[in-house]
Amino acid sequence: MRAITVVPHDASTATVTEMPDPPEADGDLVCDGLLMGVCGTDVEITKEGYGWAPDGSKELILGHESLGRVTSAPAGSDFAVGDLVVGIVRRPDPVPCPWCANLEWDMCSNGQYTERGIKQRHGYGSTVFRVESDYAIKADPKLGDAAILIEPTAVVAKVWEQMERIGQRATYAPKTALVTGAGPIGLLAALLGVQRGLDVHVLDVATDGIKPELVAQMGATYHHDGIKNLGFQPDLVVEGTGVGQILLDALRQLNNNGIVGLCGINSLTDEISVAMSSVNKQMVLANQAVVGSVNEARRHYEQANEALASADLPWLERLITKKVPMETWTQALDKGQDDIKVVIDLQS
Ligand SMILES: [Zn+2]
Ligand SMILES: [Zn+2]
Repeated sequence: MRAITVVPHDASTATVTEMPDPPEADGDLVCDGLLMGVCGTDVEITKEGYGWAPDGSKELILGHESLGRVTSAPAGSDFAVGDLVVGIVRRPDPVPCPWCANLEWDMCSNGQYTERGIKQRHGYGSTVFRVESDYAIKADPKLGDAAILIEPTAVVAKVWEQMERIGQRATYAPKTALVTGAGPIGLLAALLGVQRGLDVHVLDVATDGIKPELVAQMGATYHHDGIKNLGFQPDLVVEGTGVGQILLDALRQLNNNGIVGLCGINSLTDEISVAMSSVNKQMVLANQAVVGSVNEARRHYEQANEALASADLPWLERLITKKVPMETWTQALDKGQDDIKVVIDLQS
């Protein structure tokens, strides 16, 4: 098989390699790789020192955002030849910690989890991959290529679930939601907010182009003028940028009983001055909550599959702004200004 490989943190090693077909130990489902989605994590692994190859290997096969088609499934499994499949990224730690023991590996507390395409396990970025049926999601067949969005949608499905669970501490009656950042995570978070019947607002810096268009098409409102000029106090915020000043502005703008879900990170090191006692006072007096959220359990993939299946398919397809052939996959690491989700075509 052909595989997308890199020695983590050495961009000069990023290549396409001929490798032996995946071992049976990788799982009972054999799939043709169709698409691999690319995000900031892949850029970090290739260029910035994140990521770990499996023990005994220098290279890591990339690819945590996956889409494949089953070519062989064990008799009696829930899968059949031809099914579209997305592989779960994380595997529980071997100890296991209380969360992994409960199949909530997304909450792993000891850091010994592994991740396909990121941490000590080869990814799905190859012309053939295997995955355990217990760690595979059968994508709704009508999604087609848009099923590559299931993994990033699962990330935001978890954020929404976490905010809702916190909201259940008392009467939960949100009306407005603010999403900061109009990249794939922000747009998918906004979609899930619209599907919940909320008045959704998306904030980014672009003044024109595809981002404002996609926001308007989904029935949300686009802003590019900063949080202070929103003109309302959001009940819920999904913060997708990881920028300290944006988080602070969002906190300052938050409505009484409001909840902020954090799902973005970046490598900025700038320091900002914060009147933290005053932020504390506001949060106490207004019963506000902030929650961080990373990765996803199986149920979040299932929620994502359902959310995407009930979304407008042409709108979802517009999120995939570039499809790069496997042989020139490193081009997918450089996003253009109007790129939302860039994918690699594993069959070209
Ligand atoms: Zn990703
Ligand atoms: Zn664990």
